[in-house]
Amino acid sequence: MDKKSPARIYGVLGWPTRHSLSPAMHNAAFHALKINAEYRIFEKNPQELEVFLNSLVKQNIYGLNVTVPYKEEVIAFLDNISGEARLIGAVNTIKVSGNRLEGFNTDGEGFLKHLTEDLGFNPEGKIIAIIGAGGAARAVSVYLSKNNPEAIAIYDIDKIKVSALVGYLKENFNNIEFKSADSIAGLNIAGSDLLINATPIGMKDSDPCLVDAKFIHKGLLAYDLIYNPKETKLLEIAKQKGASVSNGLGMLLYQGALSFRHFTGRPAPLEIMRQALREGVNKI
Ligand code: NAP
Repeated sequence: MDKKSPARIYGVLGWPTRHSLSPAMHNAAFHALKINAEYRIFEKNPQELEVFLNSLVKQNIYGLNVTVPYKEEVIAFLDNISGEARLIGAVNTIKVSGNRLEGFNTDGEGFLKHLTEDLGFNPEGKIIAIIGAGGAARAVSVYLSKNNPEAIAIYDIDKIKVSALVGYLKENFNNIEFKSADSIAGLNIAGSDLLINATPIGMKDSDPCLVDAKFIHKGLLAYDLIYNPKETKLLEIAKQKGASVSNGLGMLLYQGALSFRHFTGRPAPLEIMRQALREGVNKI
């Protein structure tokens, strides 16, 4: 390892973000590639955000992942954002290049890589139902839309958010049928190939399962973006009904690997990161 210069600092910025698995994943990767760097947690409240983002260079911080609730808010502090981040309207990765802050979004691509490469699901021609119309749903729906599904239906308790997202997708992608559903029943899960939970509902023990078991069928892949707990009620019920299931750990892995590449310019050691996540999730 290069011991002459101080370690480069990276980290995850959020509020609250105490239980993030990103430090375990990135620190394992730095260690494996003998990169003199350290990945930390930066838990900043909204009053601290501006001062923090304006002092990254001074603090020897070379890159950040950004999580809830700052993915949209950070854009105002950046010098440049990538085409994907612009399309998604949110940034989950900041790279410090000299004095400039560059923003990227790796959530959508990370999700798609996990879906296609690990789960072997090709979105082309498929019928997709999404619960939630927040930042993660935006990233996921944009990346799915780039891969020619037949139809995407989206439901969110916030009707304005869902109609804004559906309107946006219609403007940007032709030949896909987009529908704004006004209830879970309106999502046509029984006729879908892929169901995605992009809400935080399922993280707490007391959370209900948003989907009625009668809609779930054997041909469905139920993908919950939540990875803690490993098996939400939705996934538990989907498994019982014979559907295929996935939690969000694979998405976390691939978005992290893509961020690592932005941070270091080097391909991420994927299996090292995967192992670190597996170990980390067992400790939560
Ligand atoms: P977000 O921006 O807060 O969006 C969540 C959306 O779900 C909001 O629009 C929210 O509406 C809506 N919602 C809440 N309760 C609902 C319900 N009962 N029915 C329908 N919609 C409901 O959060 P996010 O950043 O998109 O994240 C969503 C989830 O994905 C979180 O659990 C997050 O941890 C996970 N995630 C995972 C990864 C990964 O790598 N695996 C990456 C990103 C995000 P209100 O705002 O009105 O509450």
